[in-house]
Amino acid sequence: MEKAGKILVAGAGGFIGGHLVADLLRTGHQDIRAVDYKPLSEWHQIFRQVENISADLRELGACRGATRDARYVFGLAADMGGMGFIETHKAECMLSVLINTHMLMAAREAAVERFFYSSSACVYAAEKQTSADVVALRESDAYPAMPEDGYGWEKLFSERMCRHFSEDYGLETRIARYHNVYGPYGTFDGGREKAPAAICRKVIAAKLSHSGEIEIWGDGNQTRSFMYIDDCLIGTRMIFDSDETEPLNLGSDRLVTINQLVDIVEAIGGLRLRRVYNLLAPKGVRGRNSDNTLISERLGWAPSIPLEVGLEQTYRWIYNEMTGAARKAS
Ligand code: NAD
Repeated sequence: MEKAGKILVAGAGGFIGGHLVADLLRTGHQDIRAVDYKPLSEWHQIFRQVENISADLRELGACRGATRDARYVFGLAADMGGMGFIETHKAECMLSVLINTHMLMAAREAAVERFFYSSSACVYAAEKQTSADVVALRESDAYPAMPEDGYGWEKLFSERMCRHFSEDYGLETRIARYHNVYGPYGTFDGGREKAPAAICRKVIAAKLSHSGEIEIWGDGNQTRSFMYIDDCLIGTRMIFDSDETEPLNLGSDRLVTINQLVDIVEAIGGLRLRRVYNLLAPKGVRGRNSDNTLISERLGWAPSIPLEVGLEQTYRWIYNEMTGAARKAS
C-alpha cells in the first residue's frame, strides 16, 4: 500500500478498526477517512488528525460518500459481538449484508484499487467443530457450507460477493478469516463482549468484590484459539499487501480450553476462584482452531504473540477501565 491515496476504514469506531487507524497513522499514512455508525463519543478510539464520520453504511448513499476518492478500503463494519450476541441476534447479524453489498458497489463505482474484507472463522462448517479435541480448520473446510447460523452465513455470502466483484468487475479484493481477536480497547461488557474480555472482566469484578467465584459459560472444556490484536494488525496489513485473492485464516493456532483461559487470567490477577458452570448459556461450537499452513506458506508469517502476553495487556486495560469508571462515579 502506497502512502499516497485516501484510505477508508469502515467500522473505525470498533475494536479492530480503531487499532487499524492507529497502526496506519503509526506507519506514516495520513490521508485516512474513518467511518462508523456510532456517534463519535462512543468510538473505542478516535484520532483527531483523520477525517471521522458517523454514517450508516447499510445505506448505499453513505457508502458512496465514504468511498469517494478512496484508493484503499478496509471493510470492518459489521453488527456483531461474542456468542451471547450472535446466537440471539441472527437477523441483525445477517443485515450486515447491506453494509457489504453497498460497500462493494460503491467501491466499484469509485474505482477503488483494493478492498479488504474482514471475514470470520464462523464461516466454517458446524460439523467440523463438534469435538473439543479439534482438527484445526483449513480454508477449504468452509465448503460444503454449513456455517454458524446468521452471522456465519452472512460472512460466507459476503466473501463470495467479494470474489465475484473481483472476477466479474476486476475489483481487487483481499479476505482474512479472523479467529477470535482480543486486546485493549475492545468491548468487555454490555452483551457483545467475547470470551477473553468477558473472563478478564469477571475475574476483575471478583477481585474487586471479593466474591470468590466466577461464572463460566458452558462446561469450560470447549476449545478455541485467541489472537492478540497486534498479530491481527500485522496479518491484516500483510494480507492486504499480498497477491492472495482467496480467503486466508488469520488466527492463532494455540488451542486452549475456556478453563485454561480462566487459569491464565487468574494467574495475571493473582487469585483463584470457585468456578460455577452455566450450562444453559450460549456456548458456540465445541472446538475450533486455525490451521495456519496456508498463511505460513503464502506470507511466510503467522500469528505468534503468546496468550499470556496479550491477556496481560488486556487485563490491565480492562482493570483500569473498570476501576477508573468506579472512581469517576464516586
Ligand atoms: P466491533 O463491533 O468492535 O466493530 C465493528 C464496528 O462496525 C462497530 O464499531 C460498529 O458500530 C460498526 N458498524 C456496525 N454497523 C454499522 C453500520 N451500519 N454502518 C457503519 N458502521 C457500522 O467488531 P471488531 O471486533 O472490531 O470486528 C471488526 C470486523 O472483524 C467485523 O467485520 C467482524 O465481523 C470481524 N471479525 C472480528 C472478530 C473478532 O474476534 N473481533 C472475529 C472474526 C471477525
